[in-house]
Amino acid sequence: MTTNASTVPAYAAPAAGAPLERTTVPRRAVGAHDVLIDIKYAGICHSDIHQARDGWGRGIYPMVPGHEIAGTVAEVGSGVTKFAVGDRVGVGCFVDSCRECEHCRQGLEQYCTRGGTATYNALDKNGEPTYGGYSTRIVVDENYTVRIPDGLALDEAAPLLCAGITLYSPLRHWNAGPGKKVAIVGLGGLGHMGVKIAHALGAEVTVLSQTLRKKDDGLKLGADHYYATGDDVTFRALAGTFDLIVSTVSAPLPFDKYLGLLKTDGAMVNVGAPEEPISLNLFSVIGGRKTLAGSMIGGIRETQEMLDFCAEHGLGAEIELIRAEQINEAYERVLASDVRYRFVIDTATI
Ligand code: NAP
Ligand code: ZN
Ligand code: ZN
Repeated sequence: MTTNASTVPAYAAPAAGAPLERTTVPRRAVGAHDVLIDIKYAGICHSDIHQARDGWGRGIYPMVPGHEIAGTVAEVGSGVTKFAVGDRVGVGCFVDSCRECEHCRQGLEQYCTRGGTATYNALDKNGEPTYGGYSTRIVVDENYTVRIPDGLALDEAAPLLCAGITLYSPLRHWNAGPGKKVAIVGLGGLGHMGVKIAHALGAEVTVLSQTLRKKDDGLKLGADHYYATGDDVTFRALAGTFDLIVSTVSAPLPFDKYLGLLKTDGAMVNVGAPEEPISLNLFSVIGGRKTLAGSMIGGIRETQEMLDFCAEHGLGAEIELIRAEQINEAYERVLASDVRYRFVIDTATI
């Protein structure tokens, strides 16, 4: 016997830019290949704020954000083979994809050529809106669910489902490791996981932050160096230094200045998703054969690999646990770069 479709408590933005408020949303019946997850914790990603305020456009409302989901399996469908009731599991930024295209077959479901189904602010294969993790329960296909290793606390694991994988994937792809000088731009939710992971991979890590306010934290997280980007002295002193720069900044950056910090053949990978376009002088990449690239989260297999890596190295997120009624206040603090370093909602308070 599996649970029928149900309604569950959630926090939603009723319209673009409106404060989030308590409501209920539907969850589908548990299908043969589904798991029903009791959500324990949900991280607040800056992408939640971009979307709740319709900064990227095409928002679907009411919107229940949340794609950093950690919880336990409450029920499994008859055909589920990977999970059992009680297992500790996570769900990240997408809950389905076509499963047939070249990228899906390679485990790069995040780049599904037919477009996957985002965990929220999307329509599923049946045309029903998806609702995310600011909620108490969710039904997800087992193939889009990952296992949270015992070594990770569930609340500190939740942010790994987006912030962790978004940094792990490019750091691995561009070979961050011993002998490599890696800079992480922006010490927020993504950035602080970037510092931890790049350090654990053996790279020499530099934080480039707007100010030196968080320098002590940055060094404790594993950075070897920490600079403020507010004045040009830093850019002159560090010219030609880095093999790899990963920018996590949520606003448009002066990319030409940052590209000047790369060595010949260096790469700057942008994971931040600003609402405005940027301008670029192409001479910044021509000289020195430099690469300016982007990267989006990671596939299911790589997300599991990242969780196992983080458990092995003791890398949970630094979190501030909040009650659901503090979500709107937390959004303001993220926008003010006043997050240390991820807000996580205790979903028992929904
Ligand atoms: P966050 O916690 O707000 O961190 C962003 C950090 O960027 C801030 O803490 C701040 O660090 C720095 N920053 C903010 N405004 C800045 C400005 N105007 N100039 C320079 N630096 C600034 O946000 P997040 O959750 O880490 O997300 C960051 C961005 O990545 C968002 O745009 C989000 O949508 C995007 N994202 C992309 C992916 C992907 O797959 N590519 C996945 C998740 C999120 P300092 O105080 O240290 O300067
Ligand atoms: Zn995210
Ligand atoms: Zn696909």
